[in-house]
Amino acid sequence: MATVISGKELSAQLKEEMKAQVATFPEKYGRVPHLVVILVGEDPGSVSYVTGKAKASEVVGIKNTTIRKPDTISEAELLGLIEELNADDTVDGILVQLPLPKHISEDKVIATIAKEKDVDGFHPLNVAALWQKQDCVLPCTPKGIIKMLKRAGVEIKGKRAVVIGRSNIVGLPVSKLLLDENATVTIAHSRTADLPTVTRNAEILVVAIGRPKFVTADMVSEGAVVIDVGVNRDPETGKLCGDVDYAAVEPKASVITPVPGGVGPMTICCLMENTIECFLRKMDKQL
Ligand code: NAP
Repeated sequence: MATVISGKELSAQLKEEMKAQVATFPEKYGRVPHLVVILVGEDPGSVSYVTGKAKASEVVGIKNTTIRKPDTISEAELLGLIEELNADDTVDGILVQLPLPKHISEDKVIATIAKEKDVDGFHPLNVAALWQKQDCVLPCTPKGIIKMLKRAGVEIKGKRAVVIGRSNIVGLPVSKLLLDENATVTIAHSRTADLPTVTRNAEILVVAIGRPKFVTADMVSEGAVVIDVGVNRDPETGKLCGDVDYAAVEPKASVITPVPGGVGPMTICCLMENTIECFLRKMDKQL
């Protein structure tokens, strides 16, 4: 039986710790951190993510402002709004919920958010800093994954890690963080030849593809640590499921994360942590 890392439990614990920390801020700094989330349109998935971020902020004691804009908003207007928030000294973190309507360039939006307020860690300067091992805001999902591994007592150093997926928001940055923890990292993708042979070599397997139950038991070696980032609908049951066939893989794994209740809650938890970090960087500079 695998050890199941509950992201739900760990994030609840970490949020309690952050709540205690934030409670000391009004006296020390005169206010609490302020996160502004911009939601464009009414995509149900995005609405639910934004609601989750507002709820977590409430738990931690962070001020959260959600700005809702119709999907007809022009790119110029959205960029103008971000500029205003950049200049607003009472705003510590800015997040624009992705995806955006096609007429708006996500790259331009991400690059317009001030690096110091980029709580998602997506700004090109933050990404560059991550790859150059400089001080930066770490992207939330990869950061949450490393926290889960550490909390479960998984030794990363010297391990063979395989990451399936090479997106800018998950696959690539999680590979970099594993490398920084001294794992030997292989990045697999849709053109990887003989993927099962590659994944069976993994002592730590991180899966970020976006395909329900894609990773089957024959792709996993006995005793592997399996981190499932995927968020999908099971085509048979319509329920939320990961990229890993949990029922089949769990008996072979030594450690595994469930979906839901695994990486997802940790991502939001790390967003809270990043907001606090951005706030403290600013406040400590001003002191
Ligand atoms: P993405 O940008 O679509 O990237 C998917 C990656 O999977 C690509 O690199 C792609 O390879 C690879 N891939 C696709 N089919 C494959 C196959 N048959 N074999 C091997 N590799 C394959 O997705 P993403 O943004 O990284 O997200 C991945 C999943 O994680 C999604 O389900 C998403 O919803 C979820 N997610 C969860 C969280 C969370 O907090 N839990 C956060 C972010 C994302 P190529 O590069 O060759 O195309």
